[in-house]
Amino acid sequence: MDSAILLKYDQRVPRYTSYPTAVQFSAEVGTAQHAQWLGEVGRDEAVSLYVHVPFCRELCWYCGCNTQVGRHQNTFETYTDLVCREIDLAAAHLSLRPQAAAVHWGGGTPSSIGPARMARIMDKLREHFDFLPDAEIAVEMDPRVISGEDIVTLTRDMGVNRTSIGVQDFDAGVQKAVNRVQPYDLVADAVKNLRAGGITDLNLDLMYGLPFQRQDSFGHSADLAVGLSPERMTLFGYAHVPWMFSHMKLIKDGDLPNAEERLNLFNEALERLHAADYVHIGLDHFSKAGSEMDVAQREGRLHRNFQGYTTDAAKTLLAFGASAISTLPGGFIQNKSAARDYMKATKDGELATARGVGLTDQDRLRSHIIERLMCDFQVDLEKICEEHDIAVQGLAGDMETLNPLIADDLVAVDGWRVNVLPRGRMLVRMACAAFDQYHAPDPDKPAHARAI
Ligand code: SF4
Repeated sequence: MDSAILLKYDQRVPRYTSYPTAVQFSAEVGTAQHAQWLGEVGRDEAVSLYVHVPFCRELCWYCGCNTQVGRHQNTFETYTDLVCREIDLAAAHLSLRPQAAAVHWGGGTPSSIGPARMARIMDKLREHFDFLPDAEIAVEMDPRVISGEDIVTLTRDMGVNRTSIGVQDFDAGVQKAVNRVQPYDLVADAVKNLRAGGITDLNLDLMYGLPFQRQDSFGHSADLAVGLSPERMTLFGYAHVPWMFSHMKLIKDGDLPNAEERLNLFNEALERLHAADYVHIGLDHFSKAGSEMDVAQREGRLHRNFQGYTTDAAKTLLAFGASAISTLPGGFIQNKSAARDYMKATKDGELATARGVGLTDQDRLRSHIIERLMCDFQVDLEKICEEHDIAVQGLAGDMETLNPLIADDLVAVDGWRVNVLPRGRMLVRMACAAFDQYHAPDPDKPAHARAI
């Protein structure tokens, strides 16, 4: 893609990890709705589970997660008690005992509360859900705060079989500029311990667009990451939104690469990953050739949820902890974001519901279209509309909004089939936005990251 096209489309668009996106969530959807939708969860297909731990030892200045500095054992103990309580509260509304296909631990730094407390929460989940024998149990890890002993507890006692480590960049200057100093040896040691603990599915995150990043050193970081032989890698673009996260103000605008430099950084890492035989999955994931994700992408079975691209096909996600978002039969529900508010509500014996959105038939149709575009880069609108029993002609206006992308050879249309061309791959979110009924960018109040 040339830089002129990049600059033309370097707009703020949702990441489409859900549709409608979180911007549409409203406080009008409260605990009563949450309880009702929990009661509608069926047993015909296994659910996924998510646990959010909103604590970190210190903040990385690029962080866009819901987290806070937390170091007190008392807080961790109370939080653990209350997550267990929330699981009991939610389970009381379920009309049956669901099967669980996956548990994802995110944050924050899940291991900050300590493996023993994590194991206690896992036991509580097992009390209310029947885990499938091959259930995936994934934990996001910070190599700076996890010991070899912790890893043994997580893998042996909790059954963790998949982990993800945030690397971002191995360059010491970049690490210092974002307040996340973790030399290569520290990460390599963590990887060694994880492998010794039996982890066979490891993901490493790289991030482009950070202050002082240079093409050559970022390429070298990608090579070092590849050398650790992770099964998966992600290549995220840093979203500089200091009006949403005040710690990002510690990163100076002038130290950040511009749009063209961001593209060069991305392309540099992309080349290194391709050279090492990693297959590009969706927008920003990479997987070893022949892996489950690679096969799922080729067979049109790739999915997208709040964790990004996944092979997890569960339609229901029950999420616990501060700010956690559940996908329920009737819509999306988000818990209170501040750990303090979440803990107070749960202590009072209530679901900690903050907001949500109910799904209309149009939302379900458009969610399906957007997910297929994000995963397959092509979509047959006629076929999808048939599945949803909605007339495809209703999408004629949306198709017209694709015209600028078609004129720039980023998208091709054949009847009701839409194809995102290889040249437009990085701008797939712009094609998705054409089918997003709610997307109305407000330049004074930007709510999303840039397209690149
Ligand atoms: S460790 Fe992860 S969650 Fe915590 S501040 Fe850093 S990037 Fe954010």
